[in-house]
Amino acid sequence: MASHPHPLRNAECIFCKIVAGEIPCHKVYEDDKTLAFMDIFPLSPGHTLVIPKDHHPDLFALPDDLGSPLMTTSRRVALAIAKAFGPDGVNLFQANGAAAGQTVFHFHLHILPRRKGDGVISTDHGQRPGDHAALAKEAEAVRAVLAEM
Ligand code: AMP
Ligand code: ZN
Repeated sequence: MASHPHPLRNAECIFCKIVAGEIPCHKVYEDDKTLAFMDIFPLSPGHTLVIPKDHHPDLFALPDDLGSPLMTTSRRVALAIAKAFGPDGVNLFQANGAAAGQTVFHFHLHILPRRKGDGVISTDHGQRPGDHAALAKEAEAVRAVLAEM
């Protein structure tokens, strides 16, 4: 990896150091723009991270042209994990901001193999229906911002 120096680098960032080969990782896959490696505090066996090689702190800062390479790599790795470990399911998740649980501020997607009833993360929101007047207002608020972008 050290042979592919990347221009956008943050000196303090642990994932930039991994990209540069300055600290080790259990590499799964790399191409010119993306890298996948094992999470060293795995939430389940096979828990893998997919990152852009360039430093972008979060989704808000991610250039549009990296979306497709990151999702392509994530899909390839998820397929390989599914074949290697035979999980019952796989989550992709991604945190932006400390309040959302982000601890490393270099964009990353978690690829998380799941077993039935493992309780690793919960997507069960109790099936409470939303209030449609509130939903309509929220949709309008987002559309108004999008229209200005
Ligand atoms: P997040 O909480 O979404 O920011 O996820 C950061 C993830 O990076 C956590 O799941 C950590 O376990 C993982 N992590 C932190 N340092 C390393 C490292 N040196 N190598 C691999 N994974 C790491
Ligand atoms: Zn970085």
